[in-house]
Amino acid sequence: MSQVRIVGGTVYDPANGVDGDVRDLCIDAGRIVSDVAVDAATIDARGMVVMPGGVDIHAHVAGGAINLARRLLPEEHRGDSSRAPAVDEEASLPRSGTGGTVPSTFTTGYRYAGLGYTTVFDAAVAPATARLSHAELDDTPIVDAGFFVLMGNDEYLLRLVAADEREQAREYAAWLLGAAGGYAIKVVNPGGIEMWKGGSRDRIDLDTAIGSSRVTPRAILGTLVDAANQLRLPHAAHVHCNNLGVAGNVATTLESMRAVDGRRAHFTHLQFHSYGVDPDGRWCSGAREVAEYINAHPHISGDVGQVMFGSAATITADGPVEYLLHKSSGRKWVNVDIELETGCGIVPYAYKERSAIAALQWAVGLELFLLSTDPWRMVLSTDHPNGGSFLSYPELIRLLMDRAYRDEQRARVNPKLLAGCALADGLARQYTLEEIAIVTRAGPARLLGLSGKGHLGAGADADVTVYDRRDNVAEMFATPRYVVKGGSLVVEEGQLRRAPVGQRLYVQPEFDSAIESRLRRHFDLYSTVSFDHYPVRTLSGGPRVLAG
Ligand SMILES: [Zn+2]
Repeated sequence: MSQVRIVGGTVYDPANGVDGDVRDLCIDAGRIVSDVAVDAATIDARGMVVMPGGVDIHAHVAGGAINLARRLLPEEHRGDSSRAPAVDEEASLPRSGTGGTVPSTFTTGYRYAGLGYTTVFDAAVAPATARLSHAELDDTPIVDAGFFVLMGNDEYLLRLVAADEREQAREYAAWLLGAAGGYAIKVVNPGGIEMWKGGSRDRIDLDTAIGSSRVTPRAILGTLVDAANQLRLPHAAHVHCNNLGVAGNVATTLESMRAVDGRRAHFTHLQFHSYGVDPDGRWCSGAREVAEYINAHPHISGDVGQVMFGSAATITADGPVEYLLHKSSGRKWVNVDIELETGCGIVPYAYKERSAIAALQWAVGLELFLLSTDPWRMVLSTDHPNGGSFLSYPELIRLLMDRAYRDEQRARVNPKLLAGCALADGLARQYTLEEIAIVTRAGPARLLGLSGKGHLGAGADADVTVYDRRDNVAEMFATPRYVVKGGSLVVEEGQLRRAPVGQRLYVQPEFDSAIESRLRRHFDLYSTVSFDHYPVRTLSGGPRVLAG
C-alpha cells in the first residue's frame, strides 16, 4: 500500500504545534504528505491517539557487549522464548528468538515495533567492534538504527590531547566516525577507564591527570564536545560523566556541565549521575540541582536513565563501575579490555523496592522528569537494559502521567533515603499526552538532528503509531493498535504483521587525509588489527547529510 489515509485520529505532533487535534494523516511512498487520492487505503483511527513513531535516544541493543550479556544470561533465554511472529513471509522471513532484558536481534526489532518505536540508537560501540554492531543491526528488523562511537578513553585520542593537538583530535574523531559507520561521538567516563585499566582504583575528578598532566577528564570532554560541534554532527557529543553510580557524584556531573561552558552537549542517563550526600554521610537525591542547572542552560540536554523495579542487565564501557557493582552485589560479571579503545563490563542486576538505594534511584529519575521545565531537553530513557528493559517504558509513562498511581508506588518503596527528597515532599505534576509525545519521539528526534523523524509534517518519514485510548495509560502505550514504519503497516489490530528492513543511520564527516598516514604508523606499532582492515566498508543506504 503506497498511499494511506489515517482517518480521524486525535493527533499529537508537538514539533508542528499540533496538540490533540482531530485530523487525517496522509502517507505516500513512505512519507507524510498533505493529501492522497480518494481511493487510497484507509486506517480508521477515530477515537484513537496518533503520534509519530517512538525514537529511543539511548539503548544498548547491538554489539559486542550485548552479545556477551546474552551469553551471560542463559536463564533469561529459557524464561522468555519468543516465537516467530505471524508476519507476511513474502516480505521477510519470521524468526524466533529469546527475550529477557537482552533480547536476541530479531526479537529486539519486533518488540520495539510492537511498542510503537521505530528508531533506536545503540549508545556505546567500540570502533574495533563496529562491524559486529552493523551485522547485528542488519538482523534487527523494522527499526531505523545507528550507534554512537566510544572515544573518551581512546589511546590515540589521549595522545593527541597530551600533545595539545586539538585540531588533529577533531580530524581523528571525524575519521573514526566514518571508519566505524557511527552516528555520534560517545564519551564514557572520560579518562577514567584508561586510569582503571592502568591499575588505579581511585575516584577521579575533572582535573585528575591521566598519565600526562595535560590529559584530564576536562580536557578530553572539551576536545570531544568541540569536535562534535565543529564537525556539525547532527547530534552533540553524548556524555556519560565520571563517577557513575557513586554517592556524591552530583558534584562531578555539575562540574562537567560547567566545563562545557556554553557549548552544545548531551548528558546521558542523568539519574545515575545525580546522587548527593546528606550531612550524616548518607546517599540522597541530587536531582533538583541537576534539573535546575539544565533548566537554566539551553545548550545542554539530557536523558533520564530511569530505574524501574525488576530485572535489568547493567552493560557499560565503564568497566570500573561494573567492578564496584560486582564487588558490592556479589553477582556474576564480565569484564573486557578492548585494546587501545575502551573497556566493557556487564553485571546482571535487579532493582528491588525494598532496597533503599534502588528506591532512591527510582525517585531521582522521576524527580529529573518532574522538575525539568523543558521536556525537549530532558527525554525518556531507561538506558535499556541498565535501568530496566525498554519494555518498561509504558509503565514509566504511567508513573509520569498518573500522580495517584505514582504516590501509590512511592508508598511501597523503602523510604530510608527519601527523606527530604522532592518526590517524597509530593510532586503534583502530571505529564500530558503532548509532553509524553515530546519526551518519547519529538524531543529525541530533535536532539539527534533527525529532521525526518519525530514529527508528522509533510515530508517526514511515515513512522506513525496509533494507540487506543485506555484508562490505564501503561496498557495503552504497551499495545498500540497500529504502527506504520516508513509507510509500511507493521502492526495491524495490535498484531505484528510485517517486518521490513530498517535503515542504517550514520554520518561520514570529511577529514584531513593527513591523519591517515599518522594513524597507519600507530596501528603498525600498537594494534593487533591492521589499519586497512579496520574501517567498516559496506553499509546499507547513504550517510546522513551534515549541516552546512
Ligand atoms: Zn547506556
